[in-house]
Amino acid sequence: MSIPSGAKFKVGAVDLTVVNDGMFWQDAGAVFGLVPRVMWERVAPPMDERYRIPLGLNCLLLRSRGKTVLIETGIGGKPGDRDVATLADDGTLLTSLAAIGVAPADIDVVVNTHLHFDHCGWNTSVEVGGASAGEGAERFVPTFPNATYVINRTEWDEANHANERTRATYLSRNLDPIADRLELIDGEHAITDELIFVPAPGHTAGHSTVVIRSGQEWGVYLGDMAQHQVQLERPPWISSFDTLPLVSLETKRKLMDECIEAGALVAYTHGAYPGVGRMTRTPEGFRKWVDEPPLDGSR
Ligand SMILES: [Zn+2]
Repeated sequence: MSIPSGAKFKVGAVDLTVVNDGMFWQDAGAVFGLVPRVMWERVAPPMDERYRIPLGLNCLLLRSRGKTVLIETGIGGKPGDRDVATLADDGTLLTSLAAIGVAPADIDVVVNTHLHFDHCGWNTSVEVGGASAGEGAERFVPTFPNATYVINRTEWDEANHANERTRATYLSRNLDPIADRLELIDGEHAITDELIFVPAPGHTAGHSTVVIRSGQEWGVYLGDMAQHQVQLERPPWISSFDTLPLVSLETKRKLMDECIEAGALVAYTHGAYPGVGRMTRTPEGFRKWVDEPPLDGSR
């Protein structure tokens, strides 16, 4: 099964393209946490025979002030990367980038909202022609040879000191090879004056978003603040993957209300492709996600 890629959007003067790393199947009960099944099954996508729902892997390519910026790098393509999750396809981020004429060497900045395996897999790849690795050995190198990797410092520290709960998702093969390419961030950081890396704790303590501001418009890439849009409409619907659920609740409620106020474009990793919409409020006062159609000529 091939999932489309390359949907284009704009926030002011900033061009956004959703580049796909495919999709994977995730346990539905884990996604919806404490919410009873009778409530979520009316709004969730259909489950497979093992009670799993499909999650997208929507990464975002942006061009701003002459820089080419990639947010998130999906599950990856190294040996073992795609065994960690149940993949619905063999979608690859690099193929999606090539389809819009972007080579790995063109990327100036890679941003990881956090370092769970499904957000930073293509940070690294198997070295091509790696004779130095020796027979049978694999050497992992940064996939994007000219990129700086922007990551929250707390997130980096937690990923490198995983505990019993987090060690299955923080994988050293996605982290160690980029150790000398890092720009570790405390608090907010301007990638350009239009792209701001902003702390958004809850999913993890160091989880961050990217806010896009251009002219009078703004948008935000939410990372893993939700795995399904109903969790944006109903802030107390918190996934069991969030390590700080009550912090997550506060972060999400505040940001969603700001997005409604501003009419911001909202994108997130695990939405059904392309995972882009706007938050609105119904006449009755409920938060509501509305899908945003891609610009003409993209899909
Ligand atoms: Zn995720």
